[in-house]
Amino acid sequence: MFKKILIVDDTRLNTSLQTSIENSHTSNVTLVKDLEEKIEDLLSYDLCIIRLDDKTDELIKELTHNDKFVILMTQYDNKETREKILSYHTSDYVITNSRASVEFVCKIVNRLASNADKTILLVDDSKLVLTQISILLSLQNLKCVQCSNGEEAWQYINNTNSKKIDLIITDYEMPKMNGYDLVKNIRTKYTFEELPVLVVSGSDNTYMISRFLKVGANDYIPKPSINEEFIGRINNSLLIAGMFTKIKNMAMTDQLTGLHNRLYFYEAGVKIMHNITRAGQKSALAMIDIDNFKSVNDTYGHEAGDKALIHVAHTMKKALRRSDVLVRFGGEEFVILLPNCSHDQALKVMQKVCDLVASSPVYIGNDINLNITISIGVTSAVDDVDKMLETADKHMYEAKQTGKNRVVSQD
Ligand code: GH3
Ligand code: MG
Ligand code: MG
Ligand code: MG
Repeated sequence: MFKKILIVDDTRLNTSLQTSIENSHTSNVTLVKDLEEKIEDLLSYDLCIIRLDDKTDELIKELTHNDKFVILMTQYDNKETREKILSYHTSDYVITNSRASVEFVCKIVNRLASNADKTILLVDDSKLVLTQISILLSLQNLKCVQCSNGEEAWQYINNTNSKKIDLIITDYEMPKMNGYDLVKNIRTKYTFEELPVLVVSGSDNTYMISRFLKVGANDYIPKPSINEEFIGRINNSLLIAGMFTKIKNMAMTDQLTGLHNRLYFYEAGVKIMHNITRAGQKSALAMIDIDNFKSVNDTYGHEAGDKALIHVAHTMKKALRRSDVLVRFGGEEFVILLPNCSHDQALKVMQKVCDLVASSPVYIGNDINLNITISIGVTSAVDDVDKMLETADKHMYEAKQTGKNRVVSQD
């Protein structure tokens, strides 16, 4: 996200810092070792990492006044230095008195870069608080949507794809709907992991804090709190939510083909199907099995079999719409959920899938192009998912029995 990064540092740390950042980002990193040196085109840098020094005062001011991201470094761990640093309004700072200093700076750079596509929903009835917090968030490269009470926020959440909100920060006392009721409403629809909520409130009523946590807030930030603590808690919540999403995506992805897997089908696919049925639309489900796949493995080896599996997965995907859900259901079996699709349309699409696979040989090395075919069972009887799977499987078996490389449905 950062195109140009500037490091201004005259200590021994500077080259290892430059190398570390270059290794994990595509950014162009410039290192200035001598602080007397004139820096060309200063405002073209989007992120500057600067060692705090008597001579860097003007430089830091010019950068922060021009809304550039700045990370400061100092080896002095004392109150005066900290106060001086906080007076600049930079994104963060690192005390470089440990061996992990370079790693700390890199972590901040990574965090600022990954914050670029995160959005915080900020809910408070005080315009002043909204402005103050959004300034803090923008220093962290976070986008911010503001709502002035719980009701407005709840409407916003319902009208927006919840995936577009990464974290909600809410006040307690607000007109129309307070923070407590907002959290309560949010938890009827979204889990802790899906939509984290932080509550900010000035109340020192410990009972209220525990009520908030019990009703589903992820964390509580007392007001007033120092900016570092405030940002620290926000970053922690975003980090946990990010890790959760990453683990969930990994658990729902098939490593070989890159397609979603059976777990995804039962989690997301089933939800999609319920929504389609509730909206009165039709959907179809297809079960696909590769023909004579054992002999591919037996004849050409497991690696060639893997290549063929990947190839079939990608070929099928080409013939589908974006809204169709294709998963690797097991070994050489796939399932396709076709939302908003009539029986006839589903048959047409699946015939196209079948023909495309049959007419797209896979190259497995050693001048060998293998022809692969698949058998497909389709059902559009709207039923529960297990029944649909069972019916599609039955039709797929029939396709095997009647010669393979074909589509069979109930009609
Ligand atoms: P049919 O046409 O009746 O489906 O015959 P088939 O040989 O495809 O069916 P069978 O169930 O006997 O064999 C499936 C084979 O798929 C056996 C298994 O080794 C292979 N297989 C399953 N998963 C993988 C995989 O990840 N990689 C490779 N290379 N082979 C796999
Ligand atoms: Mg309030
Ligand atoms: Mg099979
Ligand atoms: Mg098979």
